[in-house]
Amino acid sequence: MPAVSTLKGVGPQLSKRLEKLQIREVADLLFHLPLRYQDKTKIAPISSLQPGDERLIEGVIQGCAVRFGKRRSLLCTIAGQNSTLTIRLFHFNKQQQIALKEGTSVRCFGEIRRGPSGLEMVHPEYRIIHPDRPAPELEKNLTPIYPATDGVRQRTLLSITTQALVRALPLVVELLPDISPLQHMPSLQVALQTLHRPTAETLAALPLCRERIAFEELLAHHLSLQQLRGHYRQDHAFALSTERRVVDSFIEQLPFSLTNAQQRAISEIFLDLQQPHPMQRLLQGDVGSGKTIVAICAALHVTESGFQTALMAPTELLARQHHNNICSLLEPLDISTGFLSGSMNTKDRAEVTDKVISGKTSIVVGTHALFQKTIQFRNLALIIIDEQHRFGVGQRQALQQKGVDEITSPHQLIMTATPIPRTLAMTFYADLDSTVIDELPPGRTPIKTVTIPEFRRDEVLERVHANCKQGRQAYWVCPLIEESEVLQCQAASESAKEIQQRFPDLSVGLVHGRMPPAEKDKVMGNFHKGDVHILVATTVIEVGVDVPNASLMIIENAERLGLSQLHQLRGRVGRGAIASSCLLMYRAPLSKIATERLQTIRESSDGFEIARKDLEMRGPGELLGRRQTGTPQLRMADLVRDQHLIPMVEDIARQMLQNSPQDKITRLIKRWIPDAERYRSTG
Ligand code: ADP
Ligand code: MG
Repeated sequence: MPAVSTLKGVGPQLSKRLEKLQIREVADLLFHLPLRYQDKTKIAPISSLQPGDERLIEGVIQGCAVRFGKRRSLLCTIAGQNSTLTIRLFHFNKQQQIALKEGTSVRCFGEIRRGPSGLEMVHPEYRIIHPDRPAPELEKNLTPIYPATDGVRQRTLLSITTQALVRALPLVVELLPDISPLQHMPSLQVALQTLHRPTAETLAALPLCRERIAFEELLAHHLSLQQLRGHYRQDHAFALSTERRVVDSFIEQLPFSLTNAQQRAISEIFLDLQQPHPMQRLLQGDVGSGKTIVAICAALHVTESGFQTALMAPTELLARQHHNNICSLLEPLDISTGFLSGSMNTKDRAEVTDKVISGKTSIVVGTHALFQKTIQFRNLALIIIDEQHRFGVGQRQALQQKGVDEITSPHQLIMTATPIPRTLAMTFYADLDSTVIDELPPGRTPIKTVTIPEFRRDEVLERVHANCKQGRQAYWVCPLIEESEVLQCQAASESAKEIQQRFPDLSVGLVHGRMPPAEKDKVMGNFHKGDVHILVATTVIEVGVDVPNASLMIIENAERLGLSQLHQLRGRVGRGAIASSCLLMYRAPLSKIATERLQTIRESSDGFEIARKDLEMRGPGELLGRRQTGTPQLRMADLVRDQHLIPMVEDIARQMLQNSPQDKITRLIKRWIPDAERYRSTG
C-alpha cells in the first residue's frame, strides 16, 4: 500500500505529523473523516443571525475604531439590510486598520457570539470586496473540517484527502456482506465520497452515509471481540470439579440466605469453572447487591479443587477489607490467605510472595501489586477483579499470562457496580460473558437523597450530630477540590478538625489516600467497630467499603462529581435495615450539567438508569477511562446517537462469523482497529 509520502506536498516532516493522526498510507486518509462542515455556499442576511451559528455574511463597514478595554481590540461595525454586526480583532496591524475603513465592503465567515453591544464575530476569516473587481465566487459545496493536529492545516488536509479520493477510493473494497438489512445503505465508496465532499445533490444523503460508516466501525469492534471470545474457547484452563459440597455447606452456615440472583450468579460461574477453557465473565450488580459473597464462593470452590485464587481490588483500603472479610468468613475452614500491596515493606512482601509461589497460600488478596512480573503463582486458576469495569481488553489479556504455563490460562471474573450500558458492552466488552445480579438483599430501606446549598452547612452539621447521638454513624466525604491529591487530603484533614472541635462529644476519624496504610486500617477498624462516629474521607471510600450501621452520608462539593461516582459513594449507606440518607452539599451557582446530574441522582437509585444517563452526559471515553486502559477510540460512531444500530451489528456479526471468509473479517477489523492484533498475535 502506498505511503502518504507519495502524495504531492507531503514531505518527511508532514508525514511524521500525519502519523500522529494514525495516517500512514494513502488509504488511511479515506478513513480520516470530517468532524463537521462549514457552509460558505451562501450569504446569510445579518438580520437572521443567531449566537452559536457559523455563517458567511457580507456588508459595508460603517465605522472602525480601536477600543482600549481590558484588552485592546479593533472593532468594526458592519451593516447589512437594516441590521448591524460587530467584528472584533484582538490582534491587528496598521495595514488592517487602514484596509477596514468606513465604506469598505467585506465578506466574513465565523461564529456568531453575543457581545457587549449586540452580536459579533471574533477574528472571522474575511475578504475585502473591491468595487471595481467582480465579487469572489461562493463555494459550491460544504467545506469539510477534519480532525487536525499541530502543524497540519485544514488546507493541507483538504489537498491530500482530495488526492486520496482520486487515487485510493476506487480501490476500496466493500467488506460488508450483501444481505438485506444492509441494502438500504449506501456502498462504502459512495459513503466515503459523500462524507469527504458533500455536494448539493448528495447533501440529503449525508446522515445515512455517516450511519453507514458508523455501522461498519461498530461492527469491526464487535467482530474483533467476538473473535477474541472464540480464542478463549481454544485456550486451556484448569477444569474444576463439579462437586460443590464444601461451598454448599459454607453457604448453609451464613447468617443470611443468598438472594435468587446471587444463587444464579454462583451457578453460572461454577458452570464456567468446570470447563477446560478460561472463563471470562463480567459480574454486574448494583452497589450493595452482594457481589463479594459470590466471589468468595468461587474462590472457595477453587481452593477446594486444589488451586489458587487472586483477588484484586482498586484501592488498598478495599483490598484490606476484602482480606479481613475473607479471613473471618473462611476461618473455620482453615484456608491460608495472603495480602499484598505496593506499600508493604520488602520483608513482609517476600514472605507473602514465597508462600504464593510455593502454593502454601490458596487465596491472595491485594491491589494491582498482585500482578507484577516478580510475582509468580504455583497454580493460579482464578483471577477476581473487583470494581474494575474500566478494565480494558489489553489488561485482561495481560493477566491471561499469569497461568502456570504458556498454554494454561486462569479463569477471570470481573466485578463491577457501575453497570455497563448495552451499547458500551457490545462495543467494548463483547469478549466477556455477563451475569447480572438484579436484586438487592431483602430488608434494605431506600436511601433518601437531598441536595443542600453550602450555606446551610450548620444545619447539616447539627443533623450529623443528632444522627450520631442516636447511635448511628456517618460518612463525611470531601471530594476533589483541585486536581490534586495533596489538596484533597488537606481539605479532608481540615474538615475533620473542624467537626471534631465543634462536637467534642463525638469521635471523628479521618482516612485519605496519603495516610500510612496501618493508620488507615486502624481508623477503618474503629469505624467498623462503632468507636468512630463520623468518618471524614476523601473519595477513597468510593468503592466497596461496607459498614451497615453508617446511615448518613454527607458529600461536600457534590456538584463536582460524576454521576457514577455519586451513586457509588451513596451506596456506602443503606446497607442495613436503618433508613439512610445522603445529603449532597453544593456551591451555587450550578452549571446546567451539574443541575441535571444532581437531579438524576436525587430521583433515581437504579444503577443502570444512572449509568445510561452518565453515558449520555459524559460520553464513553470518560466512562471507560480510555486513557488508562487504551480502549480504542471510536472515530465515526457515537454510542449515544448510534444505539439503534447495535442489534443489527450483533446480527450481521453473527452471520459474518458463520459465513464470511476469515480473510474478509480480518481486513474489516484491521481497517478500523489497526492495532487489534496487538491483543492476539494469532489474530
Ligand atoms: P457489593 O455488591 O456492593 O460489593 P457487598 O458484597 O459488599 O456488596 O455486600 C453488601 C452487604 O450485604 C454486605 O454487608 C454483605 O454481607 C451483605 N449481604 C450480601 N448478600 C446478602 C444477602 N443475601 N442477604 C443479606 N445480606 C447480604
Ligand atoms: Mg463490592
